[in-house]
Amino acid sequence: NKIHPCQISNYGFSYYCTASAGRERTLIAVKPDGVQRRLVGQIIQRFEQRGFKLVGLKMLKAPEDLLSQHYHNLQKKSFYPYLLCYMTSGPVVVMVWEGFNVVQTSRMMVGSTNPAEAQPGTVRGDFSIHVSRNVVHASDSVAGAEREIQLWFNGRELIDWDCCDHNIVCE
Ligand code: ADP
Repeated sequence: NKIHPCQISNYGFSYYCTASAGRERTLIAVKPDGVQRRLVGQIIQRFEQRGFKLVGLKMLKAPEDLLSQHYHNLQKKSFYPYLLCYMTSGPVVVMVWEGFNVVQTSRMMVGSTNPAEAQPGTVRGDFSIHVSRNVVHASDSVAGAEREIQLWFNGRELIDWDCCDHNIVCE
């Protein structure tokens, strides 16, 4: 009988990368300013080197009806028309990343909404200065991520694959 790596752990059960926790997914989008500034590669690199798995990726000019569903909770905000204008100003690169705790960790990696408050080392803290041009989107909850992934991708566009280092980066 082979010993599964989980059985030789020194940590508590809550740290185990259970099948469902390890399959958590989030939506990350490089916004039009990030694409224009050729930051796509650097942003992808951060998620790869952190240990997450890319399961979906595409470039598109986002239609307004898709954006209005994506930002449905912001429609009453005064900046909403400007947000739509910005998000339709050029192509976006949308991605689905998978891995343990990926929603929360991605939000940390992306940094505060307002770049003036984003820590250095975060995407927004390193690459942006103004809240209306903050380079990247990351889902803010597991439920939100599920909703956004369904909105931007159809099932056939998401790839189930095994990453060979899965048991190295996650218990
Ligand atoms: P986040 O993108 O960090 O989840 P929100 O959902 O609150 O933040 O806002 C969505 C997007 O709307 C922001 O990323 C930003 O592009 C834009 N935005 C938010 N607040 C403002 C603001 N005060 N002025 C202009 N644009 C804003």
